[in-house]
Amino acid sequence: MEINRIQVYKVALPIDDGPYRWSGGNEVHSFDSTIVRVGTTDGLCGIGEICPLGASYLPSFAEGARAGIEKLAPALIGCDPTLISVLGSQMDDLLKGHPYVKSALDMALWDIIGKAVQMPLVTLLGGRYGDAVDLYRAISQGSADSMAEQVRKYRRIGYRRFQIKVGGDPDTDIERIHAVADVLDNGDVLIADANTGWLPHQAVRVIKAVRNLDLYIEQPCETYENCLSVRRKTDFPFILDESIVDISSLLRAMSDDAMDMVNLKIGRLGGISKTRLLRDICVSSGVAVTIEDSWGSDVVTSAVAHLAHSTPAHARFTASDFNSYTSLSTAIGAPVRIEGTMVAPNGFGLGIELIEDNLGSACLDVN
Ligand code: MG
Repeated sequence: MEINRIQVYKVALPIDDGPYRWSGGNEVHSFDSTIVRVGTTDGLCGIGEICPLGASYLPSFAEGARAGIEKLAPALIGCDPTLISVLGSQMDDLLKGHPYVKSALDMALWDIIGKAVQMPLVTLLGGRYGDAVDLYRAISQGSADSMAEQVRKYRRIGYRRFQIKVGGDPDTDIERIHAVADVLDNGDVLIADANTGWLPHQAVRVIKAVRNLDLYIEQPCETYENCLSVRRKTDFPFILDESIVDISSLLRAMSDDAMDMVNLKIGRLGGISKTRLLRDICVSSGVAVTIEDSWGSDVVTSAVAHLAHSTPAHARFTASDFNSYTSLSTAIGAPVRIEGTMVAPNGFGLGIELIEDNLGSACLDVN
């Protein structure tokens, strides 16, 4: 079997709840996603997706994803798609860094392997742990009252884990955290995610002001060193997200006891292969994980579901169902949220089929 065609689609994902806001004044009305379809001489095709959270969140952007795939695609034509590590090394040799570019291609190769051996990806990754995966709901930054109202709304439809976007003015963030905590019940989980937005002195002020509450603190500051400084001044359970970009950053953070938990974003790490590696190191070290991505539609959500469902339940904190934030479906067969949980699809590979009418025509077609 050889790869004989790579098609790339640019897809706009509207956000159902209106603009999505997070630290640093970032505001996005519609996410620019990139979906790839990798065809083979056997007639199988693999699907992948990468959707950066705008251009100012991480060192990644939608146009860069497409330019990078255009650079890599010709070298993949004629290759055996099942040699996934070999092709990963080949992509790393051809294009230094840019893990997000390779993420969609790696995802598509896993999809092909699953279809070739007629197994769902979750089985290839070792099997399902438990019946379902608990989801979190990200609450866009807004007034304290509006964020509390959003949490009420999503509690009513089954979510019990809420990641509220803070990382703004500390006094406003203190109000936001108290307002949301007021509408939660026993058993609910509250995560205050600053998305790198605070300086250490601001983070410490917020943490002192909410010290009587039950919550997690996530990625308070931009630099790892500043996060570590805050970590050492608080006894709240602590999550690192943006600072963990590869094996060496993870091992350093473990050595420093810099966190209790890590958020693993498939695109930031470079695909399913690399995310699985970091996931397994975390699990074997007692560091719980959230499995997610920067953003995405049905394709990313399916990949998240397979990785999350194959994560031992005791170390699986939560996962994201980004396909429920947008009204645009890109594939059939993707996970559908049930009472704040989802399950990995049963179909082969990612277990999904693209809805071509919703993708438009390919913006790149290499064969
Ligand atoms: Mg985060």
